[in-house]
Amino acid sequence: MRRPIIAGNWKLNTCSESGPALVAALKAEVPAPSDKVEVVVCPPYPYLGLVAAAAAGSGVEVGGQNAWHETSGAFTGEVACEMLQDVGCKWVVLGHSERRQINGESDELINSKVRKALDVGLKVILCVGELLEDREGDRTEAVLKTQMTGGLVDVSAEQMAEVVIAYEPVWAIGTGKVASDEQAEEAHKFLRGWLEGRFNGDVAGATRILYGGSVKPDNANGLLGQPNVDGALVGGASLKAELFIPIIQAGVASVS
Ligand code: PEP
Repeated sequence: MRRPIIAGNWKLNTCSESGPALVAALKAEVPAPSDKVEVVVCPPYPYLGLVAAAAAGSGVEVGGQNAWHETSGAFTGEVACEMLQDVGCKWVVLGHSERRQINGESDELINSKVRKALDVGLKVILCVGELLEDREGDRTEAVLKTQMTGGLVDVSAEQMAEVVIAYEPVWAIGTGKVASDEQAEEAHKFLRGWLEGRFNGDVAGATRILYGGSVKPDNANGLLGQPNVDGALVGGASLKAELFIPIIQAGVASVS
């Protein structure tokens, strides 16, 4: 069984008060690590330590929204994977579409970050997903293939135990336009098949593939109930406990 992951990407939101308060509310739902669901929150860098302290001992784990692929040096504004670990992160999100689009991150750069994160022992949520024009031009699978191939260069089958894929169709992120259950399942199935070809059946069978893009309490059960959907990466709805908790519950229900 693939244990579902419900991950919250807080993006450029929360503050030193609201971040820990949000975690305190989530702890009521997952007071201790659970074998039914893994819950991850990804606050902005300045609040990572505070949020990690608030989450300590509970079923809420903490991740960075990005990282740099060098340990130290003249990289103004960047944060190293080791620094994320130092303040209590177990996870890092890499290749988010906002970083690909706004910051121009290439698959090559993302791959450097993936390899660095894995080298230091951080678990990676690698985001992939097509633009609306790609979907309309029937290029979804070609785009996913390019991003998976590029993002996972020189990553071994063993290392894949620490990698989670997040399928996030860009047209569904923050737009309220969610992929249908069938569209999500089709893309996830394609990704699992790609993992089998690139690695092997064991890796394909064990790798968790999350759906991301306007996941809300009212669509979570349908999406998470798909056989190849192993959880969700949630933006907007992760900022309110009353929205995020029902999505966590949908994750638990998807394997019960
Ligand atoms: C995201 O930021 O990864 C995301 C899926 O955002 P939203 O849930 O707001 O669409």
